[in-house]
Amino acid sequence: MITRSSALLQRTDPPGADVAPLTLESSWQTQLSRAVRDPRELCRRLGLDEAWLLGAERGHALFEVRVPEAFLARMRYADPQDPLLRQVLPLAAEGESVPGYVADPLAEAEHTPGPGLIHKYAGRVLLIASPACAVNCRYCFRRHFPYDDNSPSRAQWERSLDTLREDPSLHEAILSGGDPLAASDRQLAWLTERLEAIPHLKRLRIHTRLPVVIPDRVDDALLGWFAATRLQKVVVLHINHAREIDQSVVDACARLKAAGATLLNQSVLLRGVNDSVEALAELSERLFEADVLPYYLHVLDPVTGAAHFDVADEEARELVAGLREVLPGFLLPRLVREIPGEASKTPL
Ligand SMILES: *Cc1c(COP(=O)(O)O)cnc(C)c1O
Ligand code: SF4
Repeated sequence: MITRSSALLQRTDPPGADVAPLTLESSWQTQLSRAVRDPRELCRRLGLDEAWLLGAERGHALFEVRVPEAFLARMRYADPQDPLLRQVLPLAAEGESVPGYVADPLAEAEHTPGPGLIHKYAGRVLLIASPACAVNCRYCFRRHFPYDDNSPSRAQWERSLDTLREDPSLHEAILSGGDPLAASDRQLAWLTERLEAIPHLKRLRIHTRLPVVIPDRVDDALLGWFAATRLQKVVVLHINHAREIDQSVVDACARLKAAGATLLNQSVLLRGVNDSVEALAELSERLFEADVLPYYLHVLDPVTGAAHFDVADEEARELVAGLREVLPGFLLPRLVREIPGEASKTPL
C-alpha cells in the first residue's frame, strides 16, 4: 500500500519536490486532500480540449469537481465518453433547468428526527456520519444537500443516539453521508462503540464509495474498529461500471470480507455510463469476481443538474429483462426508484 501511494504522489508532484514519506495512517487522507478539484486540471490530465473545459467550468460553479488520483488513473486518456470520466466531468447542461428536476428530490429534509439522522424506513435509521465525499458524482441526489445543517457535534450526536436508544423497533444503523468513510477512524470507532451499546441494534451497514475511489482507505486503522464490533456488518459499495473495479479494489473488498462484512453493491442507471445490457452484465460479473453481490440498480433521482443522465423507465425495464436472459438470478440487481413518502424503495 505504501509503495503504491508513494508512486502516485511522486507522479503528481512537480519534479524535485520534497515528498514526505507516507505513513500507512496518513496515506488515504493525503490522497483525499490531493484529489483533483480544478476543472482545468481534470481536462488537462485527460487530454480534453477547450470545448469540454468551458462546460466543465460552468458545471463546476454549480457543484465542484472532485476526483481522487486512484480513480482518475482508471480512465482512458483523450476519451470524453469514458464511463468513469462521465460520472465526474461537469457539463454545461447541468445549468439547464428541466421540469421535474428539483434540489431535494427525496424530500429528506422532512425526515430528520435529530441532527444527522434520517428515518424513513421501518427498522433502519440512516446516520450522516460525514458530510464530505471523496468524489463528486455529477448525478448525485445529494448535490444540493444542506450538509452544514447536518454535521452534528458530539453533543448533538449524543442526543441523536438517545433517539435510537429510545426506539426498540430499530435493528439496523446505516452509516451514510456524504461518504461515511471520509470521517476519521477515531470518529467512526467512537460512533460504532456507541451504536453497539444499544442492545436492540443488530446490524451496522455502511454505504460507501471510498473503497472504490481510494482503495487505500481500507487500511488497518479502519479494519481495527470494523472487525471488532459485535454488530453484523454489511458494506454497500457504489460502483456503476466494471472498469471501476481494478485489482486494488478487489484487494480492498477482500480485506472488508476478511473483517466479516457482507459485500453488496448499488448502482445508478446512467445514460452514457452503463445503459446497455453488455455494460450491466459485465458489471455484475466483475462484482462477483470481487466477492460483491449486486443489490440495487437505481433509476436516477430527478435532481437539478443531472437530467442528461436519465434513462426512461421503459428502457430501464427492457435492460433488466435483457440482463435476466444472460445472468444467473443472484447476479441480477433489483431495479428500484425512491419515491418520497413510500415505506421502501419501489420496484419498477
Ligand atoms: C435507501 C434507504 C435505506 C435503506 O433501504 P434498504 O431497502 O434497506 O436498502 C434506509 N433509509 C433511507 C433513508 C434510505 O434512503
Ligand atoms: S454521496 Fe455517493 S453518489 Fe453522491 S457524490 Fe458522494 S460518493 Fe458520489
